[in-house]
Amino acid sequence: MSRDACEAWDRRDPLRPLREDFHLEAGRQYLVGHSLGLAPRAARDAVAAVTAGWAEDAVAGWNRRGWLDAPVRVGACIAPLIGAGTDEVVVTDATTVNLFRLLCAALDARPDRRVVLYERDNFPADNYIVEGVVTTLGFDVEARAVEIEALAGAIDDSVGVVVASHVNYRTGAVAPAAEISDAARRCGAWTLWDLAHSAGAVDVNLSGMGADLAVGCGYKYLCGGPGAPAFTFVRRGLQARLRSPMWGWLGHASPFAFEPDYRPAEGMRRFVCGTPPILSMAALEGALRLFEGLQPTTLELRVRRLTTLFRDRLEQGLRGDGLQLAGVGRDARRGGHVLLRHPEAPAVRQWLRDRGLECDVRAPDGLRFGFSPLYSRLVDAWDAAETLLELDATRAWEGVSAHREGPVT
Ligand SMILES: *Cc1c(COP(=O)(O)O)cnc(C)c1O
Repeated sequence: MSRDACEAWDRRDPLRPLREDFHLEAGRQYLVGHSLGLAPRAARDAVAAVTAGWAEDAVAGWNRRGWLDAPVRVGACIAPLIGAGTDEVVVTDATTVNLFRLLCAALDARPDRRVVLYERDNFPADNYIVEGVVTTLGFDVEARAVEIEALAGAIDDSVGVVVASHVNYRTGAVAPAAEISDAARRCGAWTLWDLAHSAGAVDVNLSGMGADLAVGCGYKYLCGGPGAPAFTFVRRGLQARLRSPMWGWLGHASPFAFEPDYRPAEGMRRFVCGTPPILSMAALEGALRLFEGLQPTTLELRVRRLTTLFRDRLEQGLRGDGLQLAGVGRDARRGGHVLLRHPEAPAVRQWLRDRGLECDVRAPDGLRFGFSPLYSRLVDAWDAAETLLELDATRAWEGVSAHREGPVT
C-alpha cells in the first residue's frame, strides 16, 4: 500500500460524499470521533429548524412539530444501526442514567435472581452504577466482577443480569457477545449491553444475538453533539414485564390526564422520565439522517479497513522501545479505535496536537486513535501512522511539555 493507493481507494469509496457534510479545517486530523463525533451540517440545520420553530410556535410547537414524540421517533432511527426493531428503542437521558434504570428494572422484575455479573474492565461509570445500585437500593443482590473472557463461563442460574460493553472503551476489543448471549439464555439470565463504542461503527445485531437490554451513546459515532441524549433498548417481549424505577410523568400512559396514580405507558415510552431536550434531540435526529440506508456491516467493514491500515503501518514501523501498539491483535475483531501506550502519553499527544493530529489520552498511559465510518479517509489513517512513526523514530516527545487545557483528556 502507498499513500497514492490510499487516495485511489478513497476516491472509489461509496461513502465518500458523507464527509462533505462535516466541517474539517484543511490539515486537521480528527481522530477522536469515538469520544465526540464531528458536527454534521445536517445536525446544525436540524437545530436551527427547532430554534426557529420555538421562536414561531413557542409552546404550540409541542403539538405542531412532533416534539413530544422525539424519544420514540429518534429511537426508531437508531434501531436499524443496532439490529433492533423500531419499537424497541427510545432516546432519553444519558447512557449512565439509562443503565441505572434498566438495571433496577431488571432486578425488580426477578427478585429470585441474586447476582449481577459484570465485566471488570468495563467503562468505570458502568461499574459505578452496578456497585451503586447494589449498595444503596436494598435489592439484596451480589455484584460479581469477572474478566470479559470469563464472563460466559461464570453465568449460572443465580445470575439475573449480565452487564458488559460490546466494544471495550480502552482496548477497542469486541466482546464475545454471541457466546455470552448463548450462555445467558441457557441459564435464564438477561444481558445488558453498553453499545457506546459500537452504535454507528460496528455491526451490532441485538435481535440476532437475542440481547435483552442495551444502552448506548448519541454523541460518539452517531455524531449527535456534545451531551447528546442516549438510547435504551428493551427486547419487545420484555417491555411489558419491566417497571422503570423512575415514575416520570412522560413515562405515564396518559401524561396530560394528570392522574393521581402512576400507570406506565405501553412499549418503550415507559422508559422516558421527564421532558425530552428537544434542541439536543434535533441535533441527533439530524445527524442520524447521514446513516439512513447504511447497514451496520458496511460501517464495520469501512472502519476495519481504516484501523487495519493504521495498525499494520505501525506494527511494521515502530522501533519497539517507544510507542507500543496495545489493545487487540491484528486479526481480532475491534471497534473504531486503536489503542497505543506510552509512558509519556500527554507529551506525545501534545506533539501530535501541535501538528494538527488529535487523539485522546486515557490514563495512565493510553492514547486512543479513532476512525469514523462517515468522515475518516484511508489517507487519514496513512498520514496519522506516518506522523506517529516520525515521532517514534526521532523520540520527539522528549522535552515536550503537555499543557492541559482543562479537565477533559
Ligand atoms: C462514553 C461512554 C458512556 C457515556 O456515558 P454518559 O452517561 O452518556 O456520559 C457510557 N459507557 C461507555 C462504555 C462509554 O464509553
